[in-house]
Amino acid sequence: MEPETIRNVDRRTLLKLSVLTAIAGSAPLRAETQQSEEGSFAARRPMPTVDARFPAEMAPGVFLLPDRRIPLVPNIGIIVGKESALVVDCGLDLESAENVLRLARELAPRRRLVLTVTHAHPEHGFGAQVFRNDARIYYNTAQRDHLLRSGKALLDCFRAGVLPPEQKHLLDGVELTPPHETYAGLQATIDLGGREVRLCNWGVAHSPGDQVVVLPQDRILFAGDLLEEGMFPIVPFFPPMIDAEDIDLARWEMALADIIRLQPRLIVPGHANLGGPELPEAVLGYFRTLRNLVAQSDRSADLRSAVHARYATWENPEFIAPALQYLRQGG
Ligand SMILES: [Zn+2]
Repeated sequence: MEPETIRNVDRRTLLKLSVLTAIAGSAPLRAETQQSEEGSFAARRPMPTVDARFPAEMAPGVFLLPDRRIPLVPNIGIIVGKESALVVDCGLDLESAENVLRLARELAPRRRLVLTVTHAHPEHGFGAQVFRNDARIYYNTAQRDHLLRSGKALLDCFRAGVLPPEQKHLLDGVELTPPHETYAGLQATIDLGGREVRLCNWGVAHSPGDQVVVLPQDRILFAGDLLEEGMFPIVPFFPPMIDAEDIDLARWEMALADIIRLQPRLIVPGHANLGGPELPEAVLGYFRTLRNLVAQSDRSADLRSAVHARYATWENPEFIAPALQYLRQGG
């Protein structure tokens, strides 16, 4: 193999890793880390298994399993009505989903279970097969189509490189599990018995069909990866693997503005800590900053450090570059 070819292969491998790191909202896997410290970085990553021992009750019958800021663990919700209970996201792997299912059974005895996922990225719902016989799996057609179209590639790449070697076994036995039922269009309502829950989506935003789960009576909203807290938002623009058609930043901004208009008291982001309307306001401000910088500067200017300096406390700065790249190609 010629040296040039080797470099190309390395670049492709690194691209693949960074794409999937971005999709997963995981900790940074920078090129230099991969090349010089392989293993040592991986060794520092906590196991992304959902810990279901300490649910927090945000309102009567509305529970949160916090992600504890562990990469590849999503924030998970369990919403209990008189007749049914809704589980929001279930984790990357079977053990995570089993932990979530067991907890849902404890918190919602004798209720029918419904599982929904905020979007089709792996750590939010690849454990769904655990729920197949115990719950009705329900989300929107755009999410289902995205899972059917891209799920296998995502799973393969997680196996191939996103997970460090000592975590790869987490995907053993994982089968892509489509929903039992979907809704078309931008909204659906589920009556859990004395508690109404709304599922809302805007089409393609952070991914095709991202949906938020709204509890109008409690003014609680689960946002999935439309929102993170204290982290750079994940704009997974990595052509040719993920190109512009699977992301729509303008629609994403519309979704965030709509979330603010809903006036939620409590917002659960896809990853990290709970907050209020300041979470979508911060992400909208960030996108505005990026748009202005891109509009005012030369295509060749490296804006990453300027952006990082403005958001010095935010985690995962590796997501700045794909966001800038997406905007520069006209998004
Ligand atoms: Zn995501």
